[in-house]
Amino acid sequence: MKKDIHPKYGQIKAVCSSCNAEFEFGSTADKVTLDVCSNCHAFYTGNRTDVKARGRVERFNKILEKSKKN
Ligand SMILES: [Zn+2]
Repeated sequence: MKKDIHPKYGQIKAVCSSCNAEFEFGSTADKVTLDVCSNCHAFYTGNRTDVKARGRVERFNKILEKSKKN
């Protein structure tokens, strides 16, 4: 058998960028980042609004309030 032709396989940590949930699993990759995961994805939560999209709407409403005051 040849040596050093296989990538290193080990336990890595993946972090969800939407809800910061961490997952550990075996992979040859060094690091994995997720946009959505089973913890926060609409399919699993039943929540129809996207986590990031909701943040954008809140930001828009803040700007709207500011513009009304001036
Ligand atoms: Zn998540």
